[in-house]
Amino acid sequence: MKKLEKNSFYVGKLAEGCKICRKGAKLVLLVTGLCNANCFYCPLSEKKKGKDVIYADEMIVRKKEDIIEEAELIEAEGTGITGGDPLIVLDRTIEFIKLLKNYFGEEHHIHLYTATLDYKKAEKLGKAGLDEIRFHPMPTLWKKIEKTKFREIVKKLEIDKGMEIPLVPHMKKETFHLLKVVDDYNLDFINLNELEFSITNLEALDKYGYVAKSDESSAVKGSEEMAYEILDLGLSTPIHYCSSSFKDAVQLRKRIERRARNVAKIYEIITEDGTLLKGVIMADKEKIKEIMEEFEIDENMISWDEKKKRIETSPFIIEEIAQYLPYKCYIIEEYPTADRLEVEITPLN
Ligand code: SF4
Repeated sequence: MKKLEKNSFYVGKLAEGCKICRKGAKLVLLVTGLCNANCFYCPLSEKKKGKDVIYADEMIVRKKEDIIEEAELIEAEGTGITGGDPLIVLDRTIEFIKLLKNYFGEEHHIHLYTATLDYKKAEKLGKAGLDEIRFHPMPTLWKKIEKTKFREIVKKLEIDKGMEIPLVPHMKKETFHLLKVVDDYNLDFINLNELEFSITNLEALDKYGYVAKSDESSAVKGSEEMAYEILDLGLSTPIHYCSSSFKDAVQLRKRIERRARNVAKIYEIITEDGTLLKGVIMADKEKIKEIMEEFEIDENMISWDEKKKRIETSPFIIEEIAQYLPYKCYIIEEYPTADRLEVEITPLN
C-alpha cells in the first residue's frame, strides 16, 4: 500500500490550484447558488443553496468591485470559481474571469468547478482565460459515465482539466467504476474530498446511517478509508486527496490570517488564530468625543462601527475604563471575515 500522509496525499503531479490553496491564497468566488445536479450530499448553506446570489469568500457581492476588494484583502494569488454551478450563469462567469485576469494579470490562476458536462460552454470559459476546470459529474452518472460525453469533452479541451468528487462510502462500487473508466481519459488530475456533514446535508447523510469521524470533526466516518482503497486500484491519473481537517485547518486559517493583516485597525489585536480582539462600548456615536476627552484617548484608538452600531477601541483601553463608564462594555473576539462572526464576548461591567 502506498503511503498516505496525515492530511493529504499526492500521487504524481499535483494540480497547480492546490499549491495556491495550501497557502490560503485562493479567493473562493461563488457565482451563483443555482445548480441542477441535486447531489444528496450538497453542503451549500441555506443562504446560498438554490439562490442566485454571489459571494466572494464570506462577503456578499453587490458590485464587481467587491470581488476585487476581497481578493486584495486576502492577497489572493488565485481564484476558485464555484457554485451552485457556474455554467448556469455562463456570461456572468466569463465576465468575472476577465475581470480577475485584467486586474491581477495572467498569472492569477483561476479554476472552476462544474457539474455540467458541456464542451461548448467549457471551451468558452477557456477562451475567456480560465486556467483549469474541475468536473464534478453528478452521482447518478458515476455508474454509467462511459455513456456520457465526458471522454470527448476531456479530449477536446485545451485547458487543464480534472475531476473532483467526494468519497461516499455507500457508493463505493459506483465510485470505483467511475475512477477506473475515467483513468484512460487523460485527465490531468483527480481530486478526492473527504465527505463532510453540513447543516443542510445532515438529514440526507443521516438516512444512510453516517456518523462523524470524531466529536471534533465534521468528516464522515469511513470516507477517508476509501482513499486508501483507491490508492490500491493502481490508477495512472495523478490523485490528490483532501481531508476535511486539511481544508479547515490549513486553507481557512491561512486565508483568515492574511485577511486579518489587511483589515485590522491600529487598536485591534491579531490573535494566534488570526481572529481580532477589540474593546466595545455600547454607546451612541456622539458619545465618542466625550469618552475621548475624559480618558485622553488618541483619535486613532477609537472609532464608530456603523454596521454593528457601537464604539470600538483597544482591548487594553477598555479594560482600564470600563468600570467608569455608564455603558455596557465588552472585549470581543471576532473573525476578520466580511460577516465578522463573533467567537467570544466577555462582559466587563
Ligand atoms: S454539484 Fe455541487 S452545488 Fe451542485 S448540488 Fe452537487 S454538490 Fe451541490
